Amino acid sequence: MNVMEIFETMDYGPAPESPAPVQAWLKQRQPFGLFINGQWVKPASGQYLDSINPSTGKPLAQVAAANSADVDAAVAAARAAFESWGKTPGHVRARYMYAIARHIQKHSRLLAVLESLDNGKPIRETRDIDIPLVARHFYYHAGWAQLMASELPGYEPVGVVGQIIPWNFPLLMLAWKIAPALAMGNTVVLKPARYTPLTALKFAEIVQEIGLPPGVVNILTGEASQVGEALVRHPDVNKIAFTGSTDVGRSLRRATAGSGKKLSLELGGKSPFIVFDDADLDSVVEGVVDAIWFNQGQVCCAGSRLLVQEDVADRLITKLRARMEKLRIGDPLDKAVDIGAIVSSAQLKEIQRLVAQGVDEGAVMWQPSWACPTEGYFFPPTLFTNVSPATTIAQVEIFGPVLVSMTFRTPAEAVALANNTRYGLAASVWSENINLALDVAPKLKAGTVWINCTNLFDASSGFGGYRESGFGREGGKEGLYEYVRPAWETARSSPAHDLPIAMEYTPASNGSEAVDATSVTNAAGESAEHHAGESESANGSRLALPGIDRTPKMFIGGKQVRPDSGYSQDVYDPRGSVVGQVGEGNRKDTRNAVEAAHAAGGWAAGTTHNRAQILYYIAENLSVREDEFAQRIVQQTGYSRAEATAEVQASISRLFSYAAWSDKFEGVVHRPPLRGVVLAMKEAIGVIGMACPDECPLLGFVSLVAPAIAMGNTVVVIPSQQAPLSATDCYQVLETSDLPDGVVNIVTGDRDTLSQVLADHDDVEAMWYFGPAEGCKRVELASTGNMKRTWVSYGHARNWLDPVQGEGEEFLRESTQVKNIWVPYGE
Ligand code: NDP
Repeated sequence: MNVMEIFETMDYGPAPESPAPVQAWLKQRQPFGLFINGQWVKPASGQYLDSINPSTGKPLAQVAAANSADVDAAVAAARAAFESWGKTPGHVRARYMYAIARHIQKHSRLLAVLESLDNGKPIRETRDIDIPLVARHFYYHAGWAQLMASELPGYEPVGVVGQIIPWNFPLLMLAWKIAPALAMGNTVVLKPARYTPLTALKFAEIVQEIGLPPGVVNILTGEASQVGEALVRHPDVNKIAFTGSTDVGRSLRRATAGSGKKLSLELGGKSPFIVFDDADLDSVVEGVVDAIWFNQGQVCCAGSRLLVQEDVADRLITKLRARMEKLRIGDPLDKAVDIGAIVSSAQLKEIQRLVAQGVDEGAVMWQPSWACPTEGYFFPPTLFTNVSPATTIAQVEIFGPVLVSMTFRTPAEAVALANNTRYGLAASVWSENINLALDVAPKLKAGTVWINCTNLFDASSGFGGYRESGFGREGGKEGLYEYVRPAWETARSSPAHDLPIAMEYTPASNGSEAVDATSVTNAAGESAEHHAGESESANGSRLALPGIDRTPKMFIGGKQVRPDSGYSQDVYDPRGSVVGQVGEGNRKDTRNAVEAAHAAGGWAAGTTHNRAQILYYIAENLSVREDEFAQRIVQQTGYSRAEATAEVQASISRLFSYAAWSDKFEGVVHRPPLRGVVLAMKEAIGVIGMACPDECPLLGFVSLVAPAIAMGNTVVVIPSQQAPLSATDCYQVLETSDLPDGVVNIVTGDRDTLSQVLADHDDVEAMWYFGPAEGCKRVELASTGNMKRTWVSYGHARNWLDPVQGEGEEFLRESTQVKNIWVPYGE
């Protein structure tokens, strides 16, 4: 071809990156051992596995197949290393991490080529995106290691962390996991994906090179059934961090339920890419390329659902097809290739299966005219039109270069379509009207929203999902909390149910403090349960009147309603005498309460000022009845009058605290390395189910409800099972405090029966449970239905009166999730 012809066709010439240095490195090292305690060791099984080059289908190298004996050895090494690493000053950890970042940069070319060979992704991406982001992640977290003592006071590392990563961004996912873990003083056992172990092994070499203390990082290659499962079940692992499919994430939730292991899950997605009719369509086309053909579409946050406003749909689809025709697929090491190979033959078959299903279901498939390479695992960029929102390809994560498109007419319809998925990882919004884009962004159920951009990542901006896309964040300050725990937790030992409620009954020392049901009065000055009255008869003698029976009902949708069962249960004082009754709530009451809580969803959209005002008002109304509430606590628990009064006063103070926080626990603005900002917004989670602790019946209730509603959630509360009357007494307080109906719903009854209904319920977004360890386990197990967030006590007590344990940021964090909205700017 002469120069003239090249100008005519504008064809790309070959621009291959040489694999030679990587091949030499592999030849010298393989078969690779396991990296345990700073050493390369042979696997206990003596077995090795091939790692395949997906662009040729041929083996690249042999890696060790670890088994549970190797897991034991690695966890033991990590535990031993934790003893000193966990106490190493932040500055020292920062230096090690800085060295890791520097060495990643020094080896960046080798790492980029190795990643492309092992995964099949184009060198353009590994060189310009994956590896630079890996280095950035270690630099950023070196900073947090340095600042941990001053910025996270009162927090400690979790301990030994098991980390399981997928094959789509092998080294980047390693960095997302290892960097925050080390920064916060944890030690790590990491399992790379079966298909892509090689860059993790190069990383182990870097760890050796920089002299990281042995055992701080351990890397075990092998199969999920041998390594992954053993790591997850290992009793000496304190936390599991996982990225991968929602199904496996669900199985990890089950496997760790009740164990007390911390868990963060970054799971699948089916992210919407929303195009309004005023968007710049040429930019949109490039955005779509980055959204769904980046990394062959094997991206958890891939913009795989194109939602286009009807009047520009045809124009956009025409432009898109023209662009698809120009995409270049082929050798991942060719610098001018846009699309590389699919990671494995199994993944390729899965994509082919889903695409065939899409055609069967009646959608219209379009692919460019050119053919894919015949060697290796390639699949062409694919566009489906005429897709109905309920079909498989519109709902299931295909994890391949396959885009499905649908149309909408109005912004409201776009939001409804976008949220019509069980996932909630990311979304893109394209419009030249910034008002419209910023109005839509908060309405999308997604952890990340990109405005007029897509698939941008930075260590400073946390990443993670809503709904079945998982929980926990990676990156940003919020991501650090996945790797720490409050220091006071280390000291605790006693199970919750041994605490104050079971404390010895202290008879009141004088008459005024005597526990006496008849002395409990309500707001109107009437005495409560079975209030026996007296009246004067006509002849002046005093007649005994039967008491007016008053059994608290449920509090649902702002109304006091009778329990569906028609049954009540007795409430006893510590001496075993009945002091009252509460309704026995059942599944139907709970479901009604969830429905009412959903109907009150507008609460989140109200102003934080208004929420603060209402919390102050609740505190005001509670303080008017301080004596009565104190007396009620005494009556149910046997606490001394002074203790009970202290609890009521602490409850009032706590309401003040969250009224104060409601307009102060705010988001931040990140400045990632691009022209633009990222708005990290703290959003309400939605409907939170909560089972209150038995200790501190009023304060426990207030301590959970107040932060949740301060942050805009609506709640369904199961009060203390042993002492529910302190919560049911709040009905009138809530009714008279301008709290909108349905924001707080209270269902009394058996804690475990009701918790199970809430934890099973698909419309409850989070479940808190403060009670016995068995109940905590049941809640965590049941939560897998919709992968709701859980916060449980594992049977441990908190001192609710202590502000360090009973209030503060931990409660606010559990009440919120961070949404990062990326807003680039400039002409
Ligand atoms: P998996 O979720 O199966 O694998 C992710 C990681 O978990 C791998 O390291 C895997 O090990 C490990 N693993 C698998 N099962 C267990 C287990 N029971 N216990 C502990 N660890 C386990 O993803 P796949 O690779 O199988 O991909 C399947 C689908 O998952 C994709 O098609 C895609 O839809 C989705 N996916 C989503 C990702 C995301 O980023 N959200 C990333 C990857 C996949 P091993 O590799 O040895 O099997």
